[in-house]
Amino acid sequence: MSALVIAEHDQGHLKAATLHAVTAALALGGDVDVLVAGLDAGAVAQAAAQVAGVNQVLHADGAALKDGLAENLTAQILQIVGTGATRAYSHVLFAATASGKNVAPRLAAKLDVAQISEITRVISADTFERPIYAGNAVATVQSLDAIKVITVRTTGFDAAAASGGAASVASVAAVMDAGTSRFLGREVTKNDRPELTAAKIIVSGGRALGSSDKFNEVLMPLADKLGAALGASRAAVDAGYAPNDWQVGQTGKIVAPQLYIAAGISGAIQHLAGMKDSKVIVAINKDPEAPIFSVADYGLEADLFAAVPELVKAL
Ligand code: FAD
Repeated sequence: MSALVIAEHDQGHLKAATLHAVTAALALGGDVDVLVAGLDAGAVAQAAAQVAGVNQVLHADGAALKDGLAENLTAQILQIVGTGATRAYSHVLFAATASGKNVAPRLAAKLDVAQISEITRVISADTFERPIYAGNAVATVQSLDAIKVITVRTTGFDAAAASGGAASVASVAAVMDAGTSRFLGREVTKNDRPELTAAKIIVSGGRALGSSDKFNEVLMPLADKLGAALGASRAAVDAGYAPNDWQVGQTGKIVAPQLYIAAGISGAIQHLAGMKDSKVIVAINKDPEAPIFSVADYGLEADLFAAVPELVKAL
């Protein structure tokens, strides 16, 4: 039994999400290899080789792999995984990020197996736990497929140590462009703050902020003081107070920081689904009945426009 983890990267750096997927793969009990597919991504392959527990890094370097197109990356994985009795891997794992979720379904379809989505625990090589109903129940799922295509909820597994490993790096032939899709462009948000899904502290705001200006004016100083990422409820995003990629929740990002501060967020189940595994939750809300208080470790029944600046001053 051996597992192949598909590395997520930007050609220069290995994304932290991959470290969580490696931990899930190690829990299967067999060898864990990592595929780094990209263009001029040698530094990523070297970084992956340092990850504790990794057996071997496969490095595919080619122009068709530069932009992470699902069609080309799937073809690359299929070439490595092989088919039928000659299959080289029993499990292929992706982090359940936008990028992993873009490729895994295609791979599963091509292999004619059912994808096992967003696992949070490995019970055995064929049995896993995954949240359902927006995290309100946990399903135990078993797959009898010969090869398992899995996405890993990163908050369910600790990150593997980024150093301490000594895996070998082997070059593998890169696939040609499948020619079925074309990369048109990428808009990358420049952000001085920590990435939302990797941040240790998140300051998150809701509809109560009332405007984009107020959102920034009230929450940014707190985030700056704490070195935190900024998050938002969907209501705040839909109203244009915060950008789309700050949304936390069922249809946003799933986060589990050390500290999550929710200001003016009611705590709808779809929001809780994205943050309730945070280690410490602080809620600031003027309504004592707000459901966010049911998951909060510390609740402050107060007007956020007074409480947050006071908190900043105290810090
Ligand atoms: P509200 O529910 O309006 O809450 C605002 C809160 O602010 C209230 O509790 C109020 O008491 C408090 N408040 C008001 N003024 C102040 C003040 N001055 N000081 C302190 N507190 C104050 N939501 C998400 O967040 N993420 C998702 O991913 C998501 N996905 C969804 C998917 C589906 C299919 C559906 C149907 C909904 C989804 N939602 C999601 C929406 C969700 O149901 C809620 O509508 C949303 O989370 C509400 O956002 P909110 O808490 O900011 O706003």
